[in-house]
Amino acid sequence: MKDLEKIIKTKLRKFLNENVNKDLSLDALNFIKEYLNIKSDILLVNKNSRFDDISMSQQMASVKYDDRSNKFIVQINFDDTKNGFVRRLAHELVHAKQMEDGRLKIKDEKIWFDGKSISWKEYKELYHSDEIPKFEEEAFDQERIISNAFWNR
Ligand SMILES: [Zn+2]
Repeated sequence: MKDLEKIIKTKLRKFLNENVNKDLSLDALNFIKEYLNIKSDILLVNKNSRFDDISMSQQMASVKYDDRSNKFIVQINFDDTKNGFVRRLAHELVHAKQMEDGRLKIKDEKIWFDGKSISWKEYKELYHSDEIPKFEEEAFDQERIISNAFWNR
């Protein structure tokens, strides 16, 4: 049922020309990259995942550094409102900046931020609590500021 709802919403947004398109995605990417002063290349990959037990934001976007191509790969769902897309992209690029600056390190079993580590299990628990991890708090604060700057340029 959720999938059907998603299909209808996406179709409607396309009809109203309110859906994300390639131009907007590249425009936003360039703007945010410059805003955050990210040096590395960034590749956007359309991730059209299904609704399941992982949280909405996690399933709609993620970022990792690819050692082979030496670039950040952002997986993000393009079937989204323009506003939602820009915010989510800004959020992931804040994490990219944290990684580029060496503040955020994602290892197999742990996440390090500013010298402190938490396990993935703790991360998942904290993500849905009032004590959201610091690097997420930063990304949520920044995504609003950055998307406002993008739309008000
Ligand atoms: Zn995040």
